[in-house]
Amino acid sequence: MSQFAWCVVGAGPAGISAIGKLLDAGISAKQIAWVDPEFNVGDIGAKWYRVNGNTKVKTLKRFLSHCKSFQIEQVPDFSIYSLNDEKSCLLEHVVEPLYWITQHFLKRVSSFKEKVCTLANNNHHWYLELEHQTLIAEQVILATGATPKTLPTNKTTIPLEVALHDEKLNQLDLSNQTVGVYGSSHSAIVAMKNLLNGKVKKVINFYRQPTKYAVCLQDFILFDNTGLKDYAADWAREHIDGKWPDRLERVHCSSEEKDSKVEQCDFLIFTIGFEKRDEIKVSPYKHSLPYNESNGIIAPGLFGLGIAYPCRVVDPLGNVEHDVGMNKFMCHLDHVLPIWLQYKA
Ligand SMILES: Cc1cc2nc3c(=O)[nH]c(=O)nc-3n(C[C@H](O)[C@H](O)[C@H](O)COP(=O)(O)OP(=O)(O)OC[C@H]3O[C@@H](n4cnc5c(N)ncnc54)[C@H](O)[C@@H]3O)c2cc1C
Repeated sequence: MSQFAWCVVGAGPAGISAIGKLLDAGISAKQIAWVDPEFNVGDIGAKWYRVNGNTKVKTLKRFLSHCKSFQIEQVPDFSIYSLNDEKSCLLEHVVEPLYWITQHFLKRVSSFKEKVCTLANNNHHWYLELEHQTLIAEQVILATGATPKTLPTNKTTIPLEVALHDEKLNQLDLSNQTVGVYGSSHSAIVAMKNLLNGKVKKVINFYRQPTKYAVCLQDFILFDNTGLKDYAADWAREHIDGKWPDRLERVHCSSEEKDSKVEQCDFLIFTIGFEKRDEIKVSPYKHSLPYNESNGIIAPGLFGLGIAYPCRVVDPLGNVEHDVGMNKFMCHLDHVLPIWLQYKA
């Protein structure tokens, strides 16, 4: 059984950041194991790369240069460096450098291209059962990501990864079809925009809340994680809070006509948030272990990071949100890694 000081599970933006910050903290690459079935920049690499993100290019660039071990200055000609700093961009522009960083980390740390199935603690060490072998690590960071939530339905659903990918969505024959979109977040706006750019007969948007917009203030951003930004905000102001396009109808979820409107739909798309991906079972616990929302601690020597374990933040006016975003995961690591280094099994 191979033994390490640290094991990072997951190679999305959070896992890549964790490897980078461990190396920056002086942990020897030989002491780090990294496990992921793909090593393809997680879900933004596999599913969301055609989505126009909600983060300004300058923030993504700050994220890429935040970690010394990323050594991003070695490749100055990634496409992201030629984009407008003040705008958001397709996520493929940040996937490109993150893929390069992944390849260069894979040459340094010990990598295992498979899934972790279970974790067990014994004698101050974590035993990680992978599909084909067992690893031992003193400390483990879970950066395993999240999947879109759905609701039970007898209708055909269009997966979010298709709804948010303009080219994949165009491959479906939706002419003369009515598509229901649940939600009013960034993903809902992107899905509706993609649908209305195509031949769909009608889009019915089922919503619970009024639209929410992020507001940039001097020292903080109001609704930084939950509010619409940049092009999604522009689209919503024009088409949701302005004049609805001819083929768009909106129905409040508590409305009496909601069920009949759902019946009219040929397809449904759910953009109603994300939940932790299938849990890795932590023995001997039968139920999923909670994590501390301030510092990511799950158990001694076991920590959570990324979209599955977001940090709870309170803005200066008392509004509470969960911090989700690549640069936020990285900044969170600056605060929590000094604690994690000491909080051993
Ligand atoms: C549509 C959309 C748009 C977004 N836009 C932005 C944006 O503009 N800017 C921004 O900063 N953030 C954005 N985000 C939020 C966030 O940055 C991304 O969701 C990001 O991909 C989350 O990174 P992660 O590493 O936490 O998870 P993931 O990217 O999901 O990576 C998790 C990894 O863990 C692996 N894994 C899971 N289980 C196991 C296991 N048992 N064993 C081994 N490996 C495992 C998975 O294979 C995967 O590779 C967006 C999110 C979405 C959904």
